[in-house]
Amino acid sequence: MVRPVRAVRPLFAVLATLLTVSTAHAQAPADSSARPKVLVIATGGTIAGVQQAPGTLGAYRAGTLTAEQVLASVPELAQHARMEAEQFSNVASTFITPAQWVALSKRINTVLRERDDIAGVVVTHGTDRLEETAFFLYLTVRSDKPVIVVGSQRPATGISPDGPINLLAAVRTAAAPAARGKGVMVVMDDRILSAREVRKAYQRVGGFTTGEMGMLGVVGGGGPEFFFTPARRHGLTSEFDLTNVDSLPRVELTFSYPGGTGPRFDTLPVGVVVATTGFTPAEGAAYRTLRQSGVVVATTFPSGDNVNAPPRARAPGSDTLPTNATAADSAALAARSGPPSVVAQHLTPPKARILLMLALTRTRVPAEIQRYFLTY
Ligand code: ASP
Repeated sequence: MVRPVRAVRPLFAVLATLLTVSTAHAQAPADSSARPKVLVIATGGTIAGVQQAPGTLGAYRAGTLTAEQVLASVPELAQHARMEAEQFSNVASTFITPAQWVALSKRINTVLRERDDIAGVVVTHGTDRLEETAFFLYLTVRSDKPVIVVGSQRPATGISPDGPINLLAAVRTAAAPAARGKGVMVVMDDRILSAREVRKAYQRVGGFTTGEMGMLGVVGGGGPEFFFTPARRHGLTSEFDLTNVDSLPRVELTFSYPGGTGPRFDTLPVGVVVATTGFTPAEGAAYRTLRQSGVVVATTFPSGDNVNAPPRARAPGSDTLPTNATAADSAALAARSGPPSVVAQHLTPPKARILLMLALTRTRVPAEIQRYFLTY
């Protein structure tokens, strides 16, 4: 009766040993020089935040710890990658400006172009503006190497901080060959989310979501696992080359609402993104006047969740372009009622603004801009 038990035990032991060895091997090469190199570019945010009274629920200053200090708080990183760090800025993300998007993107493009030894980049960032920076990088980093943007909802000195585990998951994803070609991603709360779709839905752990568009993958105990790849243009196929771009055109963001009369600008912007489900008559007139003055007007749903394309055939009196519009079509429409407005698809208003800013670095022709909104 005892014998079978004895025979079974070593078998389990052998199996367990085999499983342990093969899992450990897949996660982290024993030879540390064989581990991929990951560059962390720190911009600040809560992930580098320090409280006056550590270990409490008290207030904190975002962007306090340096990149090196943030990395040093997660020794486990060294099991998965050879780490390098640089400090881009150390601020709350509400201080991040479009000029800094340009500078950050140029820096990442340079690193990924010149440093063959870097497998991927992690950008640490405050969560308030994380989705905007991530989407700007998604459109302008012309590489298939992974760029992961990560933050935290609790400060580094808080109770159960989420920064260390988020950073570890981000670094493991940046180091993973499977992450190549998937565009810029946000890794938070064990989820891998496309920068195109991600949004901060609420200010708690687990608050980053892609809603109906789902996750690209998850980061489990064994590392990142992918299920999807973004189909829209990004990375190597992006046309948005910043080499000769130092600043972005001014694009304003407005809302439409019952009784609204549309915006009045002292000086006209180059473009406007309107969050709207439909204009009041007065708003329609105000935006028509703006279009006739040369301002490019783009509309998007306030939720950012509308996937309807612009009409295929132009409805009589419609101010939007059909999906198959040519530059000649937009000129003909312009002759009748001013240049058409362009329609953003499934982009939140702040992200539609970013795509319009970049589109306006290349053209002011509405039909061309509509093509960008249909393909990115
Ligand atoms: N205010 C902070 C920031 O955006 C919030 C955060 O990091 O979560 O920098």
